[in-house]
Amino acid sequence: MTVIERFLKYVSFDTQSDENSGVTPSTPKQMVFAQYLKSELEQLGFQEISLDENGYLFATWPANTDKPVPAIGFIAHMDTSPDMTGAGVTPRIVYGYDGSDIILCEEDNIILSPQQFPELLDHKGEDLIVTNGKTLLGADDKAGIAEIISAMVYLKEHPEIKHGKIRVGFNPDEEIGLGAHKFDVERFGCEWAYTMDGGEVGELEFENFNAASAKVIIKGRNVHPGYAKDKMINSLRVANEFVALLPTDEVPECTDGYQGFYHLIGMTGEVEQTVISYIIRDHDRAKFEARKENMKKWVEIINKKYGEGTVTLELKDQYYNMREKIEPVMHIIDIAFKAMEEADVTPKVKAIRGGTDGAQLSFKGLPCPNIFAGGLNFHGRYEFAPIQSIEKAMKVVVKIAELVAR
Ligand SMILES: [Zn+2]
Repeated sequence: MTVIERFLKYVSFDTQSDENSGVTPSTPKQMVFAQYLKSELEQLGFQEISLDENGYLFATWPANTDKPVPAIGFIAHMDTSPDMTGAGVTPRIVYGYDGSDIILCEEDNIILSPQQFPELLDHKGEDLIVTNGKTLLGADDKAGIAEIISAMVYLKEHPEIKHGKIRVGFNPDEEIGLGAHKFDVERFGCEWAYTMDGGEVGELEFENFNAASAKVIIKGRNVHPGYAKDKMINSLRVANEFVALLPTDEVPECTDGYQGFYHLIGMTGEVEQTVISYIIRDHDRAKFEARKENMKKWVEIINKKYGEGTVTLELKDQYYNMREKIEPVMHIIDIAFKAMEEADVTPKVKAIRGGTDGAQLSFKGLPCPNIFAGGLNFHGRYEFAPIQSIEKAMKVVVKIAELVAR
């Protein structure tokens, strides 16, 4: 099987995860796919294959050199996004894309057009795998799985390429933020790893946001409005005052790159009590801490005006920037850079404006940058993946294995 045949087989499995299920894996169908992968790994001659009750599938591709080489890992996730159905995926290949509109579904008039998605034009002349407009494609992240397994098969067929012990790991529930949750880093047993879960060719990510949530609870004092003078505190109006204290330009819709923000995500209340919810994000740890201090300061301002205890604040850290865990082991980035260059790929380092499984794994003791898997327009019907991008990602995996042992 080629990497593309493998990919097309994998997307036929519906592995959508579910954020409301409360169990791991969040949906039993992910386990069905895990079982299939397990049997494929057995047939291919992988060793130390284990699939635990949570749906984490690990296996080893053994070293073919006596040289002492660190064990490294490649990781991809089995689930697809809850945002769009992954049942009945019917991929189609557009050979030699000419830059025009691609009709995904004639009857529903669903068109993948470079007018909305100009990145299509970067792939002129290539062969694009697209959907039928009714489902997502699942290149996120079945392209990653296909690339990792096919790279190991490539190593098997090319014994002249010397490499150390390689572990592969396939996990459930990345799309609901729980992919790293029950990932047993010790059992995985690698010095470092890479997730193959990025988008466009060349993407290499080892920075993400530091993240916290903030819940601001405002207590009011309700009195009959006819007798309220100097007695009533309307928590809704106090909430408005609080919101107005925050900088209006440090919000997601006004920031990009390395700019952080306060994002107002919810406001529910009545006169008696109002709860405001924020998420706080910043790549820079010091600025992130300062943002949390600012929240405390604004709470104080309101409490000074309306009385101690009017506003209470619940701050909770959610995740941290993996950069601080990657910096002491920068050679793992250098290796990824070199591997891309040797695979004719120009590395594009990008700071993630979000979190990743790799970040959580890095803080669990497994430094884990993210590398492109080649798909684009994730989580929806416009998702597509150039065949050439998937092949390049596979080549990068092979090159990394080779470079670590060089
Ligand atoms: Zn993904």
